Amino acid sequence: MRIRVIGAGVAGLSFALAVTAAGYHDVLVFEEHSRVGVPKHCTGLVSETTVQAWGSIARSCVVRKFRDYVVRDVEGQSVIYLKLLEPVYLLDRVKLEEELADAVLSAGGIIKFRHKVRVIHPHHNILIDHKGNHIKYDIAVVCEGAPRILARSLSLYSKPRNLVGIQQLISLDKSPETVTVYADRRISRNFFGWCVPVTDKIALIGTADLHGSNAYAGVLRILHVLEREGYRARGILERFGGLIPIDLPRSLVANNNVLLFGDAASLIKPLTGGGLYAISRVFHALPGILKHTDPKKLPHAFMAEISMFKRKFKLHSVIRSALTALGGYETALKVLSATGIHSIKIGKYDDLLTSMKLSFR
Ligand SMILES: Cc1cc2nc3c(=O)[nH]c(=O)nc-3n(C[C@H](O)[C@H](O)[C@H](O)COP(=O)(O)OP(=O)(O)OC[C@H]3O[C@@H](n4cnc5c(N)ncnc54)[C@H](O)[C@@H]3O)c2cc1C
Repeated sequence: MRIRVIGAGVAGLSFALAVTAAGYHDVLVFEEHSRVGVPKHCTGLVSETTVQAWGSIARSCVVRKFRDYVVRDVEGQSVIYLKLLEPVYLLDRVKLEEELADAVLSAGGIIKFRHKVRVIHPHHNILIDHKGNHIKYDIAVVCEGAPRILARSLSLYSKPRNLVGIQQLISLDKSPETVTVYADRRISRNFFGWCVPVTDKIALIGTADLHGSNAYAGVLRILHVLEREGYRARGILERFGGLIPIDLPRSLVANNNVLLFGDAASLIKPLTGGGLYAISRVFHALPGILKHTDPKKLPHAFMAEISMFKRKFKLHSVIRSALTALGGYETALKVLSATGIHSIKIGKYDDLLTSMKLSFR
């Protein structure tokens, strides 16, 4: 069974690792860049559940652990504290991909770097790379991330919808204590902003918006808020970003032998933009699926697993759209704060809505 994976991001590498570890011998991953982890785009905040799914691979990438978030507006007039009953971890995202890539290679998979897949012919089971080479496959797994160029060429999407996320790693004269989420239209009309303490006096600030220029302005505003509140920025160490899908998740198979996974399938938590949770859960479930499924039926069994997330994220997606129409996360914060809510206990980070318990002043 020739399994060909397009994209050595977290989704492609997790899929390749699960199938190679399950004894599939002919697994090739194509990656257009010369190494994994580039370009950098992700913050790397994940739940305990997500870390558990990848096990020691993710544990070795943990940078920090958080038990509290502060959600506030720019002035700090509306503030709500989130108490995380399940800890949230900041992962070194580049390291996570490096560890997954090492595990794929150790299990017998092959990663072909500097190989961009340009075309998929699902009726002939052929991929064509940037040099025009024809590559045969039995199953092709498209893990190309949010741009969804191949997915579009297969007519699996008409027009993907994404937010543009922009981040800056900054050096400060003192360390912020915990994660701050800015729910304020002056930072983003469509999403929220964040300031995540990384290591001593180093923080990652960022936001996302439908337009990159607005996201960039939002990041500058976060810097301004930090400075106004007594944090002196000593320098910008890194700038990076990427796209965050905001379509409903898709469980799609083309011609029975091409399937989508990760951001390519829009497997993103609609309220927070987190994509690692669903990837890690599917990775965790794959050994069971592989054990009980005829290899020829693998794409459909895999997609049945993804349908679970599709159902789960649908409600969250509707709520996100309603929130955006009503003025975004800022309105939600103001309404909750005005009703006297001081803090919210979050039982499950990946299921904010059903696991929250409100505490009033
Ligand atoms: C600003 C920002 C912050 C985020 N923060 C978080 C967070 O805190 N927590 C969280 O859970 N998620 C977060 N996410 C989302 C998370 O980063 C993604 O869900 C996750 O990286 C998706 O992994 P992927 O493998 O599907 O795609 P990607 O990571 O995009 O990987 C796709 C890979 O495919 C390769 N590729 C693409 N096309 C081809 C081709 N034709 N041929 C060969 N190779 C190809 C690319 O080079 C890339 O290596 C964030 C995203 C952004 C943009």
